[in-house]
Amino acid sequence: MKEQIYTIPVMDGLNSDGECPFCVMRNKLEDTTVAYVLSPAYMEVDVRGETNAQGFCREHIARLYAQGNSLGLGLMLHSQLKHQHDALKELLSSQDSSARSGRKLFARKETEPSSPVSQYMKKYNASCYICGRIDATFERYLEAFFMLYKKDPEVRKKTESGKGFCFNHFLQLYESAEKYLKGDELAAFRQIITASMDQNLTRVEDDLEWFTQKFDYRYANEPWKNSRDALPRTILKLKGIKPDTK
Ligand SMILES: [Zn+2]
Ligand SMILES: [Zn+2]
Repeated sequence: MKEQIYTIPVMDGLNSDGECPFCVMRNKLEDTTVAYVLSPAYMEVDVRGETNAQGFCREHIARLYAQGNSLGLGLMLHSQLKHQHDALKELLSSQDSSARSGRKLFARKETEPSSPVSQYMKKYNASCYICGRIDATFERYLEAFFMLYKKDPEVRKKTESGKGFCFNHFLQLYESAEKYLKGDELAAFRQIITASMDQNLTRVEDDLEWFTQKFDYRYANEPWKNSRDALPRTILKLKGIKPDTK
């Protein structure tokens, strides 16, 4: 039963009709993770400790704000702000006392690591509690996908005859396949996803080309065929984002 937590969203993604089933899985996961962080169940001290330390990336702090739970977010960010302010004060005061005691903090050589303040701030700026949670769960999705791929011929067929993947998820599948498949099975899987990418990129290229040709008066009266949404579908293939819905 426990494995269904991961196999259900994986199957939902595979059954979707978009340009990348793994983007569908990831987008849903992102929506539920953002909503969960501001839910009442979440206001536990140990989790608060993690959000205080890791903070949020630009995209996710904006998504949290857009949830409209001003009190919940206000309480969470007040705690984080205080935590980070205290940490910074402590680092700055230990830097000052080292400077007073004559240690040459500012005469740093190229090979020496940057100051503790820089190191700390860089780490905080680069971390995001929500990104971390999503990445960890997405790893479980990949594991569930390969488990299903090995035992379910239907999943094999969907992988083979689907619309391919975005570039990012193609790379993730290609690389993580080594963890779950061996020998001939690994080679066959990589061949299948590569052939699918090739075929589907040609399809999207042709759609996008026709989309641009439709701006030419000579083709103005020709049918659009499958090209009306070729531009957002191309952006999804290249970058894994849907510009029309975000
Ligand atoms: Zn994707
Ligand atoms: Zn993030």
